[in-house]
Amino acid sequence: MLFVISGPSGVGKSTVLRRLIDEVPNLSFAVSHTTRPPRAGEVDGRDYHFVPDAEFARLAGEGAFVEWAFVHGHRYGTSRAAVRPGSSGDLLIEVDIQGAAALRKEIPDAVSIFIEPPRFAELATRIAGRGREARDQIEKRLRTARAEISRAASYDHRIVNDDLVRTVRELASLITSARS
Ligand code: 5GP
Repeated sequence: MLFVISGPSGVGKSTVLRRLIDEVPNLSFAVSHTTRPPRAGEVDGRDYHFVPDAEFARLAGEGAFVEWAFVHGHRYGTSRAAVRPGSSGDLLIEVDIQGAAALRKEIPDAVSIFIEPPRFAELATRIAGRGREARDQIEKRLRTARAEISRAASYDHRIVNDDLVRTVRELASLITSARS
């Protein structure tokens, strides 16, 4: 099964998804490609396949992606190889709203889940607090966040991340019931 996860920048997706993979058996992360430079602590091949623009364009030209999109000025894509059913169980893939719409079309059985913040104001605090983005980047991410939240109703499920443990538990039970 493929679980497609989206949520605005700053909602805490990465932490939630890392915990989820640790706690739920037979679930792994489908690694996307991006032209964004790696952030401190990110590992090539684990967090993303970090590729230069020319390499991304070559792969896109060859039809290697199920979907790809521009997000915050960089290209991000899901390769066909990343979502090919494998022996390692079910897959989680984190994409933006454009990617989720494309994946739903390509893979109609995919289960889509939107993770929302309890309050919009918290996104700004969290994005600024992690100190990774410049001011103009923060504003860009907040504008995108507003647009993304307004599309949350198009997902199969919505989960409010007001408490890490509870959010992971809700996602885990959603995955268990989808599997059965
Ligand atoms: P970040 O730069 O914070 O890691 O990710 C920025 C945005 O790109 C997030 O909304 C994330 O969900 C999205 N994203 C990550 N991988 C993909 C992908 O393969 N395709 C699409 N369309 N979006 C992606």
